[in-house]
Amino acid sequence: MGRIHVLSEDVANKIAAGEVVERPASVVKELIENSLDAGATRVRVDVEGGGRKLIQVTDNGCGMVRDDALLAFERHATSKLTHDDDLLSISTLGFRGEALPSIASVSRLRLETRDAAEPSGTVVEIAGGRMLTVEEAGLPAGTSISVRDLYFNTPARRKFLKAETTELSHIASLVTHYALAHPEMHWELHSTSNAMLTAPPVANHAERIFQIFGKQTLDELIPLAAQLQLERAGLPEPPPWRRPAEYVAPTPGELRLHGFTSKPEIQKLNPQSIYIFVNGRLVRDKAVMHGLLDGYRNIIPPSVYPVVLLFLEMPCTEVDVNVHPSKTEVRFRQQGLMHDFVRDSVRAALMAARPAPAFAGEIHAAPSARMALTPPLPGKEFAVHTGEIGAGEVMAQQASDAGGIAGFSLIAPSAPVRNEALPFEGSTFIEGNAAASAVRIAPQGFGGPGLGNPSAAPSAGAYPTEEAVPETRHSCALPLESADAPMDLSMLATLQPLGQIRDSFILAVNAQGLWIIDQHVAHERVLFEKILAERGGRPLESQRLLMPIVVELRPAQQAIFAEIAEELQRNGFEAEPFGVRTLAIQSAPAGIKGEEASALLTELLEQFESESQGLGFKTLTMEKIRTRIAASIACHAAIKVNMPLDRAKMEWLLAELAQTRYPMSCPHGRPVVLRYSIRDIQKAFKRI
Ligand code: ADP
Ligand code: MG
Repeated sequence: MGRIHVLSEDVANKIAAGEVVERPASVVKELIENSLDAGATRVRVDVEGGGRKLIQVTDNGCGMVRDDALLAFERHATSKLTHDDDLLSISTLGFRGEALPSIASVSRLRLETRDAAEPSGTVVEIAGGRMLTVEEAGLPAGTSISVRDLYFNTPARRKFLKAETTELSHIASLVTHYALAHPEMHWELHSTSNAMLTAPPVANHAERIFQIFGKQTLDELIPLAAQLQLERAGLPEPPPWRRPAEYVAPTPGELRLHGFTSKPEIQKLNPQSIYIFVNGRLVRDKAVMHGLLDGYRNIIPPSVYPVVLLFLEMPCTEVDVNVHPSKTEVRFRQQGLMHDFVRDSVRAALMAARPAPAFAGEIHAAPSARMALTPPLPGKEFAVHTGEIGAGEVMAQQASDAGGIAGFSLIAPSAPVRNEALPFEGSTFIEGNAAASAVRIAPQGFGGPGLGNPSAAPSAGAYPTEEAVPETRHSCALPLESADAPMDLSMLATLQPLGQIRDSFILAVNAQGLWIIDQHVAHERVLFEKILAERGGRPLESQRLLMPIVVELRPAQQAIFAEIAEELQRNGFEAEPFGVRTLAIQSAPAGIKGEEASALLTELLEQFESESQGLGFKTLTMEKIRTRIAASIACHAAIKVNMPLDRAKMEWLLAELAQTRYPMSCPHGRPVVLRYSIRDIQKAFKRI
């Protein structure tokens, strides 16, 4: 007798549930997506026990007639697809017909639904995949699905669930982000009997952000908007012999992007505050993520992440959503284009905004008081209603949970959230030595982990200095004007230096306030842009060293040297092989001393080496090599800290800085200037 047999429907559903129903938040996601597909304008989510005890999603969508209510629980039963051709142009969030049967196989599910055109509705009850009752009942139009005792029949799975608060924060994050994506809808989230989120319809995304997070968060974000006409190339079309006489070629359509991205001062430790929606679907995508981070390259340090709410819209033919059962991954037809479009749009928006970091509110720098990017309601909810878990415990758990539930800062907001409007409280501070100037990071997320997956994050962090100021290639990727003009660093032009602090930081004033400029990174930025600007022309000036300096290379470094030798030479480095595995540096770029030249070279080789060892999304490009070399030279040639500067030198440096395209951070992403605005000064003196 053969050994192969077809699995029973029940087992098949449980297997599918393993993929679709990863955790309570995945159930919420599937149910919300069904409500959206049903055209609902109101969605209410109720949970108990972090979703393990109960998840209920109620909508006012199209509802289902009795037959459909039963069919919905058959595997691969869907109203959203008919032909395989439809798979090429999926415009609904669901299409696999897997969610309901999968969820029903691992829970006790009750469906109440009524199609508005029907006089009465249907109630269906299923437990562990077995249909218990089907009844007719008087119900409001729309659908309500309650899922109780998730994984009650799969104890192994239940063990993997995290603490109640963790699961709840995932759910809260998810609902918050769908609410952000659909400002035109009414959203509610209740945990037990507490309203965590109540968001009536508003006119646009900005209003929704304001409604959920408040003004401060909105102020920390820069609006994004760009569009790009797609080209026809490669669009799926029937072959000529199958085209009907009246065939019209499909229009390629356009790629649109809008949303919000954070000012460079907002820096997160993980990518979980980055939310990417593709055609209304919350996804994680490497290409888009990498593009985003590339946009920030050399503006924020390589190991931190911005807060992003990004909506990408494109014709359905441009994106394949049928990649994974949980539908959180997509495949773009033109992945490289998508990457560059995102990168250029983000970069253009950052350039246009040029916001300067304000002073750290050192007096008020209690990190837990800052809840700006955290929905205040859920935060309070946790603080108040997790009686059995002490705040300390929750925090420890927060740290241990790799996913991090940081978004919903579980620390009780002891200070009222918006009492001090010092903008980037706790986000930047200075140390006596500019080389060690560090950025302290507030570990909150933009509303928790959601679908963000740290392991899916590209390794962009490994390239601190590449692609510094890329030209915006798509001229159409221009940001829309933002309503309130942010503080502009062209104000730097009027700065009057007062003196230095510890021979390292220039103190300067103008009508906009008091400024502190890190002299090393300021000069670094100036040189970096100069080197890049000049590279089109003649090679950079170089100076011959008195004695050649010999550098030892490992074999891998030798290969890399061969790749970058030409660019090094253009930048004033002359180095020649000298025996086996050794190089002799004969000249170095102007301003770089002998011993520094060899340090610079080894540093570059080491960086390129680790980069080319497969961390990358792309391999080494000429662009990367150039910017990396420029950044290194700028760093080594720049004025150091602990160096006295006379007034003329300071004036010169400030004037040069004002001329740069991007004066707010050095090529490694550290801040260059801090401003103490007149308003901050007046406030601190209690004049306002
Ligand atoms: P899919 O969404 O992939 O089609 P599901 O298993 O999630 O598969 O749902 C099966 C079908 O049940 C859907 O195609 C839809 O017709 C119906 N359905 C599910 N939820 C709702 C809802 N909230 N309102 C109306 N119809 C629904
Ligand atoms: Mg569905």
